[in-house]
Amino acid sequence: MGNLKPLTDDFGRQITYLRISVTDRCNLRCVYCMPESGISLLNHNEVISYEDILRLTGILSKHGVNKIRITGGEPLVRKGLTCLIENMSRIKGIEDISMTTNGILLEKYASELYNAGLKRINISLDSLKEERFWKITRMGSLKDVLTGIKLAKKTGFKPVKINTVLIRGINDDEIIDFVNFAKEFELDLRFIEYMPIGGNIAEAVLSKEIEEKIRSEFDDFSLMTGNQAENNAYNADVHSGVSRSFGFKDGKAVIGFISPLSEHFCGNCNRLRLTASGNLRPCLFYDNEYNIKDILKENDDEAVFEKVSGIIKLKRFKHNFNDKAEKKESLLWANDFMNGIGG
Ligand code: SAM
Ligand code: SF4
Repeated sequence: MGNLKPLTDDFGRQITYLRISVTDRCNLRCVYCMPESGISLLNHNEVISYEDILRLTGILSKHGVNKIRITGGEPLVRKGLTCLIENMSRIKGIEDISMTTNGILLEKYASELYNAGLKRINISLDSLKEERFWKITRMGSLKDVLTGIKLAKKTGFKPVKINTVLIRGINDDEIIDFVNFAKEFELDLRFIEYMPIGGNIAEAVLSKEIEEKIRSEFDDFSLMTGNQAENNAYNADVHSGVSRSFGFKDGKAVIGFISPLSEHFCGNCNRLRLTASGNLRPCLFYDNEYNIKDILKENDDEAVFEKVSGIIKLKRFKHNFNDKAEKKESLLWANDFMNGIGG
């Protein structure tokens, strides 16, 4: 932990985790994330520079931030990402760098990312059927993602997590196929409830329903204890702040549930989000975001800390997303599609 004042919100939660969206661009157009026509993208000079990202990370690391997730858009479409990770892994106090990717470009970049210091990876995958994969992503090839997943395992990423969003009537019949896939390749599979951000285009499948479906097929499916968590076959880290994890007797897969719709996980929130445009967002479900790019240009670390501290004070105790979702309201905020915020 850094040796300066910690970043703490009004409810005593310390911020130790920064999620960074490095680009709003993407090589896919997932139906739940972006409109088919794409969105109006940032100009290159509007996207936060690597220099600013490193400067912010360096300052926040002195105040206790020790965990970073690189996301997007699709992070691997931004040039020079390996170099960013290499430089980030040298920042004192940063203990954990991970990335969320759609996996399309992993065949090209897996080993250089690993050598640069990235050790954990989440790969998004919503169907194991080629035609359906195409329907959901509107482009791209399932084969590339599967190659990326196998290569990530072979390269040594630990854990390799699969993020799966189920949409009623589109891919909710693949729950058991996904579990078998996770067991076969010893993966950590996380089902994420669909959030109607940017447009209410689909019906979510809630975690409870998925959990029951898996239990009906696998007698030994059970919530992992701390001990099992430490001894699972491939040392997946389980029970993170926002997910509950289950396992099987053979220890071959970890199944996690991220349930923003059906459960609140705000109580132990430790995170802050940096958007591709260089704004800080106190919470994924916050209606506003705040420019941090400008102050980073000044040579005043204390001023940056004060600005970030002020933004953190805006964090609410819990988000009101569930109420809006219950009323089937879409959460469409100014220029907010998930690709710019980073998920
Ligand atoms: N392009 C990368 C990818 O797809 O993994 C990283 C960015 S993406 C915005 C990060 C995560 O957010 C993905 O796992 C994606 O499935 C998830 N996501 C995007 N839109 C979502 C939505 N409306 N509800 C739930 N999860 C969503
Ligand atoms: Fe791109 Fe990821 Fe959004 Fe799909 S979920 S459109 S891969 S940013």
